[in-house]
Amino acid sequence: MPDISRRTLLQATAAVGAGAVVAPAVLAGAAQAATGTDGSGAPIWAECPPAELTGRIVRFGDPDYPSASLGWDELFVRNPLVIVFAQNTQDVVNALAWSRQNDVALRVRSGRHSLEGWSNVDNGIVIDVSELKSADIDRAALTARVGAGLNQLEAVTALAQQGLAVTTGTEGSVGLSGATLGGGFGFLTRWLGMACDNLIGAEVVVASGANGAKAVQVDLRNRRDLLWALRGAGNGNFGIVTSLTYRVAPLRGVAYLQATWSGLGDLREVFDSWQRTAPFTDVRLGSQLEIHKSQILLFGVLAEGTEAEARRLLAPVLAVGSPQVTVQIGGWGEIYAGFQVPTQDEPANWKFFSQFARRPFPPEAIEIIRSFMAVAPTDASNFFTQAFGVGAQARQPVGGSAFPHRDAIFYSEPGAGWGTRGVPDSGDALTPAAQAWIAEFSQALRPYVDGAYVNVPNIGMQEWETAYWGPNVERLRRIKAVYDPHNVFQYEQSVPPASC
Ligand SMILES: Cc1cc2nc3c(=O)[nH]c(=O)nc-3n(C[C@H](O)[C@H](O)[C@H](O)COP(=O)(O)OP(=O)(O)OC[C@H]3O[C@@H](n4cnc5c(N)ncnc54)[C@H](O)[C@@H]3O)c2cc1C
Repeated sequence: MPDISRRTLLQATAAVGAGAVVAPAVLAGAAQAATGTDGSGAPIWAECPPAELTGRIVRFGDPDYPSASLGWDELFVRNPLVIVFAQNTQDVVNALAWSRQNDVALRVRSGRHSLEGWSNVDNGIVIDVSELKSADIDRAALTARVGAGLNQLEAVTALAQQGLAVTTGTEGSVGLSGATLGGGFGFLTRWLGMACDNLIGAEVVVASGANGAKAVQVDLRNRRDLLWALRGAGNGNFGIVTSLTYRVAPLRGVAYLQATWSGLGDLREVFDSWQRTAPFTDVRLGSQLEIHKSQILLFGVLAEGTEAEARRLLAPVLAVGSPQVTVQIGGWGEIYAGFQVPTQDEPANWKFFSQFARRPFPPEAIEIIRSFMAVAPTDASNFFTQAFGVGAQARQPVGGSAFPHRDAIFYSEPGAGWGTRGVPDSGDALTPAAQAWIAEFSQALRPYVDGAYVNVPNIGMQEWETAYWGPNVERLRRIKAVYDPHNVFQYEQSVPPASC
């Protein structure tokens, strides 16, 4: 019997699904009957008129379909019925109403970096906001209203051109929407708080009535409960965010420090001095450790800092062994753009596990990291940390947030990367070993960690809701019941509506 690969099988399934598609207008018309006509002869609809898809629409068979349906993490292959690239808010309203009227599963997508492939769905509709690119910056008011389609590099660049900044994650190609709505941490977190803490408003397309959709404005005065929920639990749970308004901060320049230790011989001392220094030093300093099989990397960004200050703040770590150290001084926009790795140079498949630490790791935990990294499935696989601790992220923003991990001293994450981009199935042989390595690595660290990060979802976790949102789970379910009582926005780990 011929071997049918996973991808071939999925493509075949999608082709059947796509073949069954009737023109959207026909389906929409069939979804609901007009109750009569008005004086001009136009039909009167019981709820709302049948929706038609608008915007840039891509279906199976279109030349763009393969690239339009591909996510950043090629481990997950999905074949949607249709992808709508919205060009404005009305396109999003139409797409949501259409999916409801035609009983088609929907997913929301921006930067495509969902680490479980949950911004795409077989045989459903993907409502993609990535072409909503705008940036309206008010330098005097220190606010910026941006389209939900900006990625992090675009947002950092647009703000930096005006000498401004907001917290984002480190990888430029990640969607600003996806990162912010789940929390969003990076080098500026200790100084400015989480990205979601700086979110002060949004336009959101929500489900309306039995089968419609509408756009609503959210800020500290209007629908304050929904703003609270969007700050850390907004990913595909309550509605489709079409624009985000941030409080932004002036930032003229940064000092960017990189240090490299060859091998893992210094790991115990480097890790221990880092976890006792980086979370507790000057809040302008954001820092990360990235531990690979054959080297340890330290990155630090000091907002409005000098080289001497950056070296001094990280001196206890830099004093371990003989690292190679470089420091660059520059504008945040150029430094951020400079440390980006082109997507095509990254492995095709990735699997991560997110964890927060509230206490320093004891020597046994650091030994677990060393022993797992020594047998990592590939050189790209790594153990990543981001300093939290003392800093703006430890405080709730005005209005509060669903993001709960305020007392973490650092975030940590084992990650496996394998396979070659553009070469289908290239990683398949390594997939079982890479998945097992992550599962066993993260399980071994569980005695030393607490909670998980919804933006890096843990599929192998039973109590995922509590791990992501702690004591906020019940409030999130109640807010879900208000804005999405029919649970239109649902996926593998979405917030369910409260039942009473
Ligand atoms: C290489 C890499 C590096 C990363 N580094 C960091 C980091 O430094 N800091 C950090 O905090 N996180 C980091 N992350 C995690 C990242 O924040 C999440 O993967 C994020 O959810 C991706 O958002 P996206 O828009 O790119 O992805 P998508 O796949 O488009 O969406 C992700 C989720 O958000 C939902 N969503 C997207 N747009 C909207 C919208 N407009 N309205 C409602 N829901 C929406 C989707 O439905 C989906 O559930 C990293 C991820 C990767 C892959």
